[in-house]
Amino acid sequence: AKQEARNGRRFFNPRMQARVLEYVALASDMRKGLEDGEFIPYYQPQVDAAGKLVGFELLIRWHHGRRGIIAPADFIPVAEDNGQIIELGRQVLDAAGAQLARWRHQPGLKDLTLAVNISARQLHQADFVDQVGQVIQRHRIDASLLKLELTESMLLEDVDDSIDKMMRLRVLGVRFALDDFGTGYSSLSYLKRLPLDQLKIDKSFVRDLLTDPYDADIARTIVSLARGLGLEVIAEGVETREQRDCLASYGCGAYQGYFYGRPVPIEQLDPVALLNRGA
Ligand code: C2E
Ligand code: CA
Ligand code: CA
Ligand code: CA
Repeated sequence: AKQEARNGRRFFNPRMQARVLEYVALASDMRKGLEDGEFIPYYQPQVDAAGKLVGFELLIRWHHGRRGIIAPADFIPVAEDNGQIIELGRQVLDAAGAQLARWRHQPGLKDLTLAVNISARQLHQADFVDQVGQVIQRHRIDASLLKLELTESMLLEDVDDSIDKMMRLRVLGVRFALDDFGTGYSSLSYLKRLPLDQLKIDKSFVRDLLTDPYDADIARTIVSLARGLGLEVIAEGVETREQRDCLASYGCGAYQGYFYGRPVPIEQLDPVALLNRGA
């Protein structure tokens, strides 16, 4: 056993080994977690240039029986690897549809949009368009309130398939945001071909906006690029008034971040209060 341990250490240091074990454990807990409804939607507000609430982004959390709340960074990659992202994505889309349907019947909330993160494997599934269409039908929602957040890297995996699916979804009224914009390959040539509605400035450029001229340049460039392409632009990760004011000076049209509210589960969400605060 000693010999084995020594050999093992040559290939796996303890931290790597812990990560592998963690990964295997999460992967095997995931199926049951999906069956038991342990993946809970959280909602983070999005506001317009005037500070008025316009909608939310759905961010999933795993309420794991023994481990407590697990952040998506710790399980989305696992789910993408083992294919469970397909079932998780289905649940997330259905939760989004159900939530939009509820807001539809509440006074003052019927125009709220809901942004949903889509993973590469989900988008490139053969029946993805049908899946989204069924959610829209089942919950009788206004499709234009559903915004799918995609990333450059997943679109570039298969540009033609992406464009085809986006076009078919757009016919239904679905809208699209390009997430994490500026962090990927940023091939500007295909940007014009994609039926996008919104560019999302990644929080990595917002964080040091006031101290790092490089990040400030990127943020400013994304805002003007969006304008040039006739797209909306939203900044994520806005934590302070100063960041917001700086982005506003560039002409940014919408904001999301702890400054406006953290992601919270539906029981902790009071959209009516948020609407009144902004007005
Ligand atoms: P993302 O889509 O880029 O989401 C933004 C992340 O920034 C979220 O992390 C959000 O909680 C966090 N955030 C929001 N405001 C602030 C702020 O002011 N400051 C800071 N420092 N962070 C802020 P979260 O919720 O941990 O999600 C991480 C990533 O996991 C997401 O990045 C998204 O790529 C993925 N994800 C989340 N939910 C889903 C889902 O339902 N499906 C899929 N496929 N991916 C998801
Ligand atoms: Ca997102
Ligand atoms: Ca991001
Ligand atoms: Ca992301």
